[in-house]
Amino acid sequence: MTVSTEPQTDPFALAKALSGQHLIDGQFVAAASGRAFDVVNPATGAVIGQAADGDAADVDRAVAAAARAQAEWKKMPARQRGKLVAQCGARLAEHVDELGKLIALETGKALRTESRVEASVLADMFVFFGGLGSELKGETVPFNPNMMTVTAREPVGVVGAIIPWNVPLLLMAMKIAPALVAGNTVVVKSAEEAPLTVLRVMQIMNEILPPGCANILSGFGPECGGPLVAHPKIAKVSFTGSVETGRIVARAAADRLIPATLELGGKSPMIIMGDADLDRAVEGAITGMRFTRQGQSCTASSRIYVHESVHDAFVEKVRARVDAMKMGDPLDEATDIGTIISPQQLEKVQGFVEAGKKAGATCITCSKMPEDAALSKGLFLQPVIFTDVSPDAAPAKEEVFGPVVCIFKFSDYEDVLAKANDSEYGLAATIWTSDLKTALDATHRLEAGFVQVNQNLVVQPNLSYGGVKSSGLGKEASLESMLEHFTHKKTIIFNMG
Ligand code: ADP
Repeated sequence: MTVSTEPQTDPFALAKALSGQHLIDGQFVAAASGRAFDVVNPATGAVIGQAADGDAADVDRAVAAAARAQAEWKKMPARQRGKLVAQCGARLAEHVDELGKLIALETGKALRTESRVEASVLADMFVFFGGLGSELKGETVPFNPNMMTVTAREPVGVVGAIIPWNVPLLLMAMKIAPALVAGNTVVVKSAEEAPLTVLRVMQIMNEILPPGCANILSGFGPECGGPLVAHPKIAKVSFTGSVETGRIVARAAADRLIPATLELGGKSPMIIMGDADLDRAVEGAITGMRFTRQGQSCTASSRIYVHESVHDAFVEKVRARVDAMKMGDPLDEATDIGTIISPQQLEKVQGFVEAGKKAGATCITCSKMPEDAALSKGLFLQPVIFTDVSPDAAPAKEEVFGPVVCIFKFSDYEDVLAKANDSEYGLAATIWTSDLKTALDATHRLEAGFVQVNQNLVVQPNLSYGGVKSSGLGKEASLESMLEHFTHKKTIIFNMG
C-alpha cells in the first residue's frame, strides 16, 4: 500500500499504510525474504503495524542502489545538493505534527514534551546542513612557486547509518543530512523498535532527492545491521547505540579498514555548587535527566552531585517538580511523561531500581501511574530519585537508560571533580555555579565531549556533539563533523614546469 506524502492526521492509519516495507531506490519494497515483524505501541501493547525484516539480500539491493545513485549525486554542484537537502527540511517542517504523532505512537514518547519537538529539530537539521554546500572547500598550500597545490573535499561514497530507537529522527538527521550534502549517498538501518517514522521521513525526502540517494532498511541488528557494515561497497559507518554494539560495529569496520563514527553511552555528571542559582539548576536537572523522555537518553545527567549546603533543598525541589509531571497517553497533549520503549527495557530499568534499593539507597518514587484502563498494559514506570547511594551501586555507575537519577552530596570541589571523572563514560557534563573561576576550571577539567555551565541544552545544529572514553569516537551535528567524517581530503598538485 502506498500513502500520499501530504501531511496525515491519523498516526494509526499511517502506521498501517507504511507497514512491511523498506525504501530502496525511491521505491517501497518488501523484504526479499518476505518476512516482517510487529511494531508495538508501548502505551497499550497493541500491534500498530509491521516492519520489513531485512537481511543481507536487502542490504545488497539497497547498497547497490546507493552506489549507482552516488555516481551521479557527487557530480551535482555542492550548493545544489545542499538546496535539495534544505528543501527536504522545509517539506519535513510541514509534517512536524504528523511525524510527532507517529513517533509518539511507536516509541511512547509524549507528543507535546518530546515527540513533536524531535520532529521539529529533524527538519531544522536538514535546513541547517542544506546551507553548508559551499563550505565543502579546500585549501591552497604554499608548496613551490612553480606549482599550484590545493586540497579538495571529496565524498567518501556510500554511508551506512545505524540508528537507535530513543531519538531516531534527530539521530538520523545528524547523520544523513551532512552525508548527503557532502556528496555521499546513504543506507540507513532503523532500530527494530522504531522503524516507521524514519521510513516516513525517507518517503518524504525521496520526493525531492534523486532515487537511490536516501535508502532505509528495517531489521534486526546482527541480521541487517551486520551485513550493512560488512558490505564491500559501504565506505563509512556512522553508528549510534550501546557501547557493546559499538564495539562490534567498530571491529567490523576495522576488518574492512573503513572509518566508523560511534555515538555510544553515557553517565553524565551534573555538579551543583553551593553558590548556584538553585531554581535554574533544578530546571537544568529536569531537562538534563530527560524525565520527559523517561530518561532514555545517552546524555542524561544521571549522576547529580550537590553541595551539602543546598543538597536537601535541591532534592526536595526536584522531587516536587517530577512529582507534578503527568504520566499518561503519549498522544495526549496534557501528558508530560510517556512510556518505556519495550518490556525488555522496562525489566532492565526495574532491575537497576532493585539494585539501588538493595545497595541501601533511599528511593524516592515520583509522579503517578496512569489510571486509564486503556493504558493498563502500557510500559509506564514511575521516575526514581536515589539519594544516599553508594557510588559503587549499579544505578550510580552503569548507564540505566531509564528515569532513574542518583543524587550525591559533596563538600569538597576537588573531590567532586574526581568523582565526576571517575566513570568509563565521557559524553556530557554540566557545572552550576556563580563563580566564574570555578566554572572555567571545571570546563577544562571535566572529561566529557560536551561541557556546559549553568545550562543543560540538548543537541543543536552546529554544536559538535560526541563523547570521549567509552562514549564514542568522532563528533556529529556540526560543519566540522561534515568535513571530517563525510569527506576525504584530496591533495592535488599542478606542476607548471
Ligand atoms: P539499544 O540498546 O539502544 O537497542 P543497540 O546498540 O543494540 O542499542 O542498537 C542500536 C542499533 O544497532 C539498532 O539499530 C540495532 O538494530 C543495531 N545493532 C544491534 N546489533 C548490531 C550488530 N551486531 N551489527 C550492526 N548493528 C547492530
